[in-house]
Amino acid sequence: YTQAKVLTYSKYGEPKDVLQLHKHSIPAPTGTQVNLRLLAAPINPADVNQIQGVYPSKPPFETTLGTPEPSAIGGNEGAFEVTSTGSNVTNLSTGDWVVMKRTGQGTWRTHAQLDESQLIKVDKEGLSPLQVGTVSVNPVTAYRMIKDFCNWDWIRSGEEWLIQNGANSGVGRAAIQLARVWGINTLNVIRERENPKETEALKKDLLDLGATAVITEAELLSGDFRAIVHKLTKEGKQPIRLALNCVGGKNASAMAKALAPDSHLVTYGAMAKQPVALPSGLLIFKNLVFAGFWVSRWGDKNPQLKENTIRDIFDLTRNGKFKDIPVQEVKWTWDKDYSELVQEVQGTLTGYRGGKSIFVF
Ligand code: NDP
Repeated sequence: YTQAKVLTYSKYGEPKDVLQLHKHSIPAPTGTQVNLRLLAAPINPADVNQIQGVYPSKPPFETTLGTPEPSAIGGNEGAFEVTSTGSNVTNLSTGDWVVMKRTGQGTWRTHAQLDESQLIKVDKEGLSPLQVGTVSVNPVTAYRMIKDFCNWDWIRSGEEWLIQNGANSGVGRAAIQLARVWGINTLNVIRERENPKETEALKKDLLDLGATAVITEAELLSGDFRAIVHKLTKEGKQPIRLALNCVGGKNASAMAKALAPDSHLVTYGAMAKQPVALPSGLLIFKNLVFAGFWVSRWGDKNPQLKENTIRDIFDLTRNGKFKDIPVQEVKWTWDKDYSELVQEVQGTLTGYRGGKSIFVF
């Protein structure tokens, strides 16, 4: 038996009120079962929404872990190491690294026992637990939004743009780097910090990642925005073909106005909790397309493409073209105090953070 600790919840609410640390034991694997040890699992905004009960995908509350009430396990992605395998496991062996095939399987746990069919084997050569543990949600989202919503027949390398808000998010940082690799300029919008030095530091951080330009939300919403775009895009000769929106509200409408005819604005998040207003003229005269993207649904529908996408991102990572996101590592030692773990989850939706928290075992 292996002793395991798991962050579970049996009802929806604020993480600090509903998350529980549960201890249980895992038997030796049989058949196609695989025993796993956690390497790294991040706390993403959607994980918190899921615990709050406001996220569309809700893992079922189950009794399999022996919790007093039926419960679900927090977390949707992570890197795990195989510690032992059942006799019918064909594709995995001890020491291999894996990620979960689907979201919603619960990753905030020191150990797990899953079926081989639920796992994707990772070629760990040259990769860190952080890189593997954070690949499935943010980088895949950025990758698919750019690949699948750009008309690649039109893209002329170095002469076209995408615009995005939340540019310092995990998704935003991935989009900056992928766009650079694929020859698309990026106009990145961040929220200004109280201290102007911090705003400048964040701008520089994104420029170092490969951003073409970084502006603040205040600049986006100001009367100067048109002139800023005009200048950046060589007097408007370089079209902005795609907008990526994880904020909503006025921010999203302002980005839409900068788009060239027939472009897409893809909404994938709603951090400001304000609806996206679609100006009628942009729909009628510019034929803009307003779409949404959800990586969970996309991944469930396209499992093979998801694996290929992950592999592609790992290749870029190994080649130094895809840098780590800033994170706060939370070492989940065996004696780790419950309240410290829960605090990290609770703090995830407060803005202006230096990076997301990640459980490391
Ligand atoms: P991170 O935790 O890496 O970053 C959070 C981002 O949200 C930061 O840029 C932060 O900016 C910004 N933010 C926080 N609060 C607000 C606010 N009130 N108004 C505007 N911006 C705010 O996030 P992720 O990259 O993991 O996720 C970003 C968004 O994308 C989330 O909404 C998430 O749910 C969504 N998402 C959606 C996916 C999909 O498939 N649809 C997949 C992955 C993510 P600041 O530093 O200024 O606070």
